[in-house]
Amino acid sequence: MKALRIEDNKLKLADSAIPRREGEALVRMTMAGICNTDIEIARGYADFRGTLGHEFVGVVEESPDRSQIGRRVVGEINVGCGQCDLCRGNDPRHCLDRTALGIRGRDGAFAEYLSLPPQNLLIVPDSVSDRQAVFTEPLAAALEILDQVEIRASDRVAVVGDGRLGQLISRVIARTGCDLTMIGKHDAKLELAARAGVKTAKLGAAGIVLCNGDFSRQAPTEVAITKAPRFDFVIEASGSSGGLAVALDLIRPRGAIILKSTFRGAVRLDTSRIVVNEISVIGSRCGRFETALRLLESDEVDLGPLISREYQLAGSVEAMAEAERRGTLKVLLTN
Ligand SMILES: [Zn+2]
Ligand SMILES: [Zn+2]
Repeated sequence: MKALRIEDNKLKLADSAIPRREGEALVRMTMAGICNTDIEIARGYADFRGTLGHEFVGVVEESPDRSQIGRRVVGEINVGCGQCDLCRGNDPRHCLDRTALGIRGRDGAFAEYLSLPPQNLLIVPDSVSDRQAVFTEPLAAALEILDQVEIRASDRVAVVGDGRLGQLISRVIARTGCDLTMIGKHDAKLELAARAGVKTAKLGAAGIVLCNGDFSRQAPTEVAITKAPRFDFVIEASGSSGGLAVALDLIRPRGAIILKSTFRGAVRLDTSRIVVNEISVIGSRCGRFETALRLLESDEVDLGPLISREYQLAGSVEAMAEAERRGTLKVLLTN
């Protein structure tokens, strides 16, 4: 079968054996999504070798759970050892010996077929299209924030990053009714969020926030970050190492920064600001798929405008290059 693989630090469309793992289900991928993590993995993040991809929807071809065969599914990407305290406590997402689809020790979804344990698969409701269902994993990751912190309508929240993840998170967080501002660098992406009803502010070259109308009640002008409003929560979803410094500039004393970006390399950080201002820094990764599927079923979050382009699996190398290009949002692969 065809698979988009990282081998010897090179991305290539390869001929690969159909993945068959003892006791697992075989899923034919119908649609998969490229996210920033895939791009970072291709750059060396997580030191991964094998087939890329963890956001998918597909149809079950074989499974020890016969009721799944022929059904349309999405899949929780982490597979725990099943034996340790974390796994027995129903938290395989943090099992030290876990594998993760297309990220850690397990071939991923940018292929004709993928393998996952039957208990990782969730049936997609008929009313949810493939183009919606393919967002289940990143949507669950966005919803994870609301499992970790309580955001109230009276809170001021900033999302740093106007890319794929920032857009998704903004749409999810906006549902809390909080005072939300997305902060980014790209006019077209900020405009897209604005059209979804999210307030936006632009980050300039020298750490300056260019405020749009209602961000500061001033006419569009440059306001030094030191004079910018302070937020109760700042969600860092920029996908780059500079995002955390911006978050630290924006958070109020005793506020919480939620970190969503995974990327290759390290961040230099003035930790004394965290200490002096008693900032909570919370890492946030995968979330619960059930909640994400329910949200998709409710049709309350419009994801259509986030899709930039679709490629066939045969064009997946080009699709990765497209996903990396500035201004591109979600790139999908079809099989
Ligand atoms: Zn992802
Ligand atoms: Zn375990």
